[in-house]
Amino acid sequence: MIQEQRNDATLDLIDFDQPQRFKAITRSNVTSTPEWEGLDPDLRAGIEVVSAVLPFRTNQYVMEELIDWNAVPDDPIFRLTFPHKDMLSNEQFERIRELQASDQKEELKAAIREIQLELNPHPAGQMTHNVPTVAGEPVPGIQHKYDQTTLFFPAHGQTCHAYCTFCFRWAQFVGLDDMKFANKDVDQLAAYLGEHPEISDVLFTGGDPMVMKSKVFARYIDRILEDPELAHIQTIRIGTKSVAYWPQRYVTDADAEELLDIFRRIIASGRTVAIMGHYSHPVELSTPMSREAVRRIRETGANIRMQSPLIRHVNDDPDVWTEMWNTGVRLGLIPYYFFVERDTGARGYFETPLDKCHEIFVEAYSKVSGIARTVRGPSMSAFPGKVHILGVRDVGGQKAFVLEYLQCRRGELVRQPFFAKYDPKATWFDTLEPLTEADAPFFPGNWPDAAEETPGTVPLTVGSAS
Ligand SMILES: *Cc1c(COP(=O)(O)O)cnc(C)c1O
Ligand code: SF4
Repeated sequence: MIQEQRNDATLDLIDFDQPQRFKAITRSNVTSTPEWEGLDPDLRAGIEVVSAVLPFRTNQYVMEELIDWNAVPDDPIFRLTFPHKDMLSNEQFERIRELQASDQKEELKAAIREIQLELNPHPAGQMTHNVPTVAGEPVPGIQHKYDQTTLFFPAHGQTCHAYCTFCFRWAQFVGLDDMKFANKDVDQLAAYLGEHPEISDVLFTGGDPMVMKSKVFARYIDRILEDPELAHIQTIRIGTKSVAYWPQRYVTDADAEELLDIFRRIIASGRTVAIMGHYSHPVELSTPMSREAVRRIRETGANIRMQSPLIRHVNDDPDVWTEMWNTGVRLGLIPYYFFVERDTGARGYFETPLDKCHEIFVEAYSKVSGIARTVRGPSMSAFPGKVHILGVRDVGGQKAFVLEYLQCRRGELVRQPFFAKYDPKATWFDTLEPLTEADAPFFPGNWPDAAEETPGTVPLTVGSAS
């Protein structure tokens, strides 16, 4: 069916002669787009105020092909892309609006910063934990929290295709956090991996590593492939939103073919390429361009997993997930994680209680076949590990969340069920409490390394899905 569509229609619908060239759309140039012209003045005014605090970034493809402007403001991709009045309190909103109107530049700047800090009170220190070392020297740009998988943050991959305000990367995008932790030292990466035979997976993340030119990406990959000391690296993972927001990266971009060749080289070396695709809504898999991207990536032998947080206003509906997983499976994608949206940025606007997350997950999961039940969730990428919500149970007369770690800083706790006191309002692991004494060891309160954590910091994880 898909195959047929591709041959008959999909390719015809892609303009290979005059391909779209990537151009970011932000608050500074959105006003010259036809979509902006047509937007309701109230919505425009809201975006103008809120985007001073919560900037957005998108592109022509998202604007033209993913957003249904007739369904605005409730269109899910519109919600995901553009800031909304409700992301700020009335007081914050009015303050910014008045300062903008009165043209008090310095006061405005200070107010923006103040509100950003309120939204993300401890932006610093995202990479202060577990910065690894090689020969006694700290190596920035690497995070190694779970034995088998190392995250690598290439310096050239530190912007993203969006600035989702719920993303932990948000602090970096608005300049609250610098990018000193990123790395472009190929030898340092290789040295670190060489010293750690337990690592099987290197996960390129960002920002979005696929904003890198293929040539730059090739430097890292070829170094890994050529080094006999790195034979233990079996999987190259790439966390990316590009498959959804700029699939041209794999189809019509000038160095698309070069990128696909890199995947082929990795596979020819006997390794796996896993694209960790951040897909939040089935519409992202509906366009000819996105399907052609999937087809070309898979043709190299790479596989694509799909993961996303549950985001209120965007995908807080089980049918959306069912459709996304079914469409994905049909196109050859593998459902992977269903995350709980994390505790940063405009969280009040996007977050959903844990109980509700679980309900949505179960309903969606029940409607797909075992092939799509490779998905795991709801999962919180919290400081101690990935906490999986198994459900809510009555335990000896007390209502409780049943939880387990899918990943944990303390490996011995993985996949051991434990209980937390039920709290209908809870939206994140850090507010949960052990149900009984026996559950206490699962909570990081008294772990030896928990003290390193500045209270309230947002530890760096790939929890926000890309
Ligand atoms: C999620 C995550 C990983 C990868 O975990 P998998 O379960 O193997 O996908 C690695 N490192 C960090 C810090 C993570 O949050
Ligand atoms: S959630 Fe994904 S797409 Fe959004 S800003 Fe974060 S990394 Fe980028």
